[in-house]
Amino acid sequence: MDKKSLFSRLQDVIETDVLSNRVVTVVGLGTGGSLVAVELAKCAVGKFRLIDFDRLETHNVVRHACGVRDLGRLKTDAVKDAVLNCNPFASVELYNLNVLDEGVDLAQLLSGSDIVMACTDSERSKYHINRCLINLWFEQKISIPAIYAGAYERAFGGDVMRVVPGASPCYDCVIGSVQQLPFMATMPKSTVPYSALENSAAFRAEPGLGLDVHFIALLQAKLALMTLLRGTDTQVADIPYDFLFWGNRKEWIFPEPFKCIFAKTEMRPDCGTCGTPARAATPTEEQDLQQKSQEIICAAAKAGADTNSTVNGYEEVELAPHLREYSS
Ligand SMILES: [Zn+2]
Repeated sequence: MDKKSLFSRLQDVIETDVLSNRVVTVVGLGTGGSLVAVELAKCAVGKFRLIDFDRLETHNVVRHACGVRDLGRLKTDAVKDAVLNCNPFASVELYNLNVLDEGVDLAQLLSGSDIVMACTDSERSKYHINRCLINLWFEQKISIPAIYAGAYERAFGGDVMRVVPGASPCYDCVIGSVQQLPFMATMPKSTVPYSALENSAAFRAEPGLGLDVHFIALLQAKLALMTLLRGTDTQVADIPYDFLFWGNRKEWIFPEPFKCIFAKTEMRPDCGTCGTPARAATPTEEQDLQQKSQEIICAAAKAGADTNSTVNGYEEVELAPHLREYSS
């Protein structure tokens, strides 16, 4: 098999030579992360770092990129095989670990990546990845973009966020500001997607169709391609947004199935991760600011969860003006 014939159907669609040299780190190899890795491999991405500590279990099979033949295997091993099954020219490094464990040098793991795909199912790990990448920017002026994605209750929808350190608001900024938008209070109850309240030890995987999660993961993967090809003579047009809501069903802010709402995001000056006070603070002050930032988000998330409201249709949802402007 030669590379040219393998990627011949991508010719004049995407720059496979460029992508062959790109390093993509995927943190979390569940339903979304496994699909992201396989789809990027199909697009000729040539270098992967796969991070997960879990094994493939029976309940994973109906949603995961790997199936019954991989039951009991480490997800890193199984996804590596799935990646190589599509793109045998890829190189794949495996890290069987939890990024939240003490002793894990996340900065070292992520350094050298061209992009980080944050596909974990806990908010704590997403915050940790964000903090690590923002620190790399402030301390070493290394800007590694990351794409975060998450699904809502029963995957009725989800969102995808791009963060480019030094050029866009960070994950903490965006979650903090999104949580304070009026329509977040009407999100279907029990759904606290950005729950800093979440006890990750008691975390239960949300039910939902694999294909509904896949829509979100595919948007995440496509946004990664746009980002990886920035600055090149590419045929893949980028979008001027870093945050999007995707609706699989007519629910909450989505007037009909398959609805995408784009949002422009802004830095929060009081952000506990990238805000001016946080960057100028001593380690102790920095911890206080982080705590304060988490509390703002917790309070907003809790307010949303406590309203116990039902959303009957789009008309009842007040979109913030700047979101309405970018609705499509
Ligand atoms: Zn920030």
